Amino acid sequence: MSIYENLNPQQKEAVCQTEGPLLILAGAGSGKTRVLTHRIAYLIEEKGVNPWNIMAITFTNKAAQEMKERVDQIVGFGSESVWVTTFHSTCVRILRRYIDRIGFDNRFTIYDADDQKSLMKDICKRLQIDTKLYKERALLAQISHAKDQLVSPEEFELNSQGDYSKMRVAEVYKEYQTQLRRNNALDFDDLIMKTVELFQSCPEVLESYQERFRYIMVDEYQDTNLAQFQFVSLLASKYQNLCVVGDDDQSIYKFRGANIENILGFERVFSNTKVIRLEQNYRSTKNILQAANEVIQNNAQRKPKTLWTDNEEGNKVHFRHFLSGFEEAEYVVGDIAQKHREGICSYRDCAVLYRTNAQSRLFEEKFLMANIPYRLVGGVNFYARKEIKDLLSYLKTVDNAKDDLAVRRIINIPKRGIGATTLLRVQEYATEQDISFYDALKEAEKIPKLGRAAVKIQPFVTMIQSLRSEQRSFSVSELLDDVIERTGYVQDLIAEDTDESRARIENIDELITKATTYDKESENPTLGGFLEEVALVADIDTVDPNQDHVLLMTLHSAKGLEFSQVYLAGMEDGIFPSYMTIGSEDPGDMEEERRLCYVGITRAMKDLTMTSVQQRMIRGQAQYNKVSRFIYELPREVVDMGHKIEKKEIKTEVPRNNTYAQMREAFRAKAFQPRQFEVKKADKLSYEVGDTVRHVKFGVGIVKNIVEGGKDYEVTVDFDQVGVKKMFASFAKLKKI
Ligand code: ATP
Ligand code: MG
Repeated sequence: MSIYENLNPQQKEAVCQTEGPLLILAGAGSGKTRVLTHRIAYLIEEKGVNPWNIMAITFTNKAAQEMKERVDQIVGFGSESVWVTTFHSTCVRILRRYIDRIGFDNRFTIYDADDQKSLMKDICKRLQIDTKLYKERALLAQISHAKDQLVSPEEFELNSQGDYSKMRVAEVYKEYQTQLRRNNALDFDDLIMKTVELFQSCPEVLESYQERFRYIMVDEYQDTNLAQFQFVSLLASKYQNLCVVGDDDQSIYKFRGANIENILGFERVFSNTKVIRLEQNYRSTKNILQAANEVIQNNAQRKPKTLWTDNEEGNKVHFRHFLSGFEEAEYVVGDIAQKHREGICSYRDCAVLYRTNAQSRLFEEKFLMANIPYRLVGGVNFYARKEIKDLLSYLKTVDNAKDDLAVRRIINIPKRGIGATTLLRVQEYATEQDISFYDALKEAEKIPKLGRAAVKIQPFVTMIQSLRSEQRSFSVSELLDDVIERTGYVQDLIAEDTDESRARIENIDELITKATTYDKESENPTLGGFLEEVALVADIDTVDPNQDHVLLMTLHSAKGLEFSQVYLAGMEDGIFPSYMTIGSEDPGDMEEERRLCYVGITRAMKDLTMTSVQQRMIRGQAQYNKVSRFIYELPREVVDMGHKIEKKEIKTEVPRNNTYAQMREAFRAKAFQPRQFEVKKADKLSYEVGDTVRHVKFGVGIVKNIVEGGKDYEVTVDFDQVGVKKMFASFAKLKKI
């Protein structure tokens, strides 16, 4: 068969080994994902397996889509019946069918991070939790972690005995679950945990899925947590045809409960596991691969492996050091513009990767200025925007009026003059009667203390009831249109007529497009199905590969992807590795950060550029960081340092063939002395405290304070538009007016 001839012998072996547990453990770019695709094709074509009996789990919906398309190209039939999805989507589908067996309503809502936060706020108030001591986010993280480990509120409580602060968390966890249940909602972690619970308590359900999914494959297996592992183990326990592929060096989700033990201990759990290693990298040039190999070798906890490649040597890894984040962004954007001009690459071949979302802003500004199309992955997710959440909350209320959070979000949108006291009374009544918030609204006239406020509630209830009755005969997009019309949502925005309101209308148009596409393309469109699809889209899923734009994203979102031109920005100690990691007592944390660096480096096919800056503004404060320790771990001979440093300092003074440690020391000492010549002290300022000045970006403001430092002045200005900012005189270039 010709298609299998494009595989190397190990890959071929992995494709043909269809029976029994199989662990493919291999480094980045060695064709793991490609093997999975071919394996599905092989099962269908060569083994005559019914596509219906195959399940493949990917990390994102986008990856699932790609895998389906690739299988489609290979076999040309049946691929649509292969179940290729993420863990979350898989579990939702199972739960929609069977969750009533464990006492939930099948029409549950899925809560996103925002919903979870609102719910947690309520709970903290109700339980009188001191949110200075127990941050809402930290509480949610602890609950999430417990769920990843399949720890129920009851077990959590048992484990917390004697520890006051943990007992408090246990109390919150319990209440959180109670409230989710009242709202008939599940959070993301519940999706997995409840499915495991379902399998464990209903053997007949488990068996029906075991029969169905006789061949199971999991991509990016190194990032599964205990709950996910339990889920696949249960499914595969009957036929044992489980193939997982992963790379322990790319495990980067420990903070989300990913358990590297799952990969290291696979052979223990599944006896008779066959292990196949792939060692040839097809993605990157020799130089990039060598950089990746050497960096990761600094980790002690890993299964040793070496990757090699037949690809060309390629360019060296570029490292550039700048004075400020502005310069860094300017360089990266300029470099992309130039490569594009010279026809070296399209915009879509370029990706800028960074450690934290906040780093994207400077790049965005420069891309805008340079008129280069870009797409930000992450940041404010489309579905987290106010107008989108408002309208979706209407649809959620129509679909499942038990979702108190959705109902409360929209009860006063548009303004209906229903006050906080009224809402409180309705809530009290709901709690007393043990009914949902919406059901309480329906009985408003029975709530004694409500008085005339009940009249204001009536039209809202009538509207929802009538939308609900339309649900049967209307498509999702028609329903959405109707919500928009009845609420006057867009009319209000038109009346507002600001840049912001126009942007909101555009977003709403986008939502309508989405609903229309859903109506057209799904086999059996329902409102519930639409809301589910929307709840599960990760941001990366919305990237359209046909659009020619540069992608900006965090290193975490870049997993599994590849780009010809990769920029790793913010290579500074304190940014990457992060302060948290540097300060951590657990050496495992630094190893995780280093794996993230390895993931970043190995995204690059042809060119890799790493950048760092001397001074960076973080939350309005200047921060001076050293060049990242990961840069010193790069093998000297594959790095090009930019002309100045390379000629004068490195080539002559770092002896060749030195030991690694000596080389690193020399590198550290010589290469990164601050470039003094660039920080010129502004010897005399043309303005003083009290003067009105203009800044190119922030506009007009009044100088509040000037502090003289060693090399520069730190100037505090109160701007009309953006408030108080501290800045260095030599960068700020303020003009007195
Ligand atoms: P990661 O660890 O980053 O997820 P991976 O191991 O899944 O990487 P793939 O994405 O499957 O690797 O493959 C990397 C690149 O190498 C892809 O462009 C793929 O098409 C190519 N590739 C893989 N195997 C071969 C092969 N035998 N011949 C030619 N190209 C290959
Ligand atoms: Mg892959």
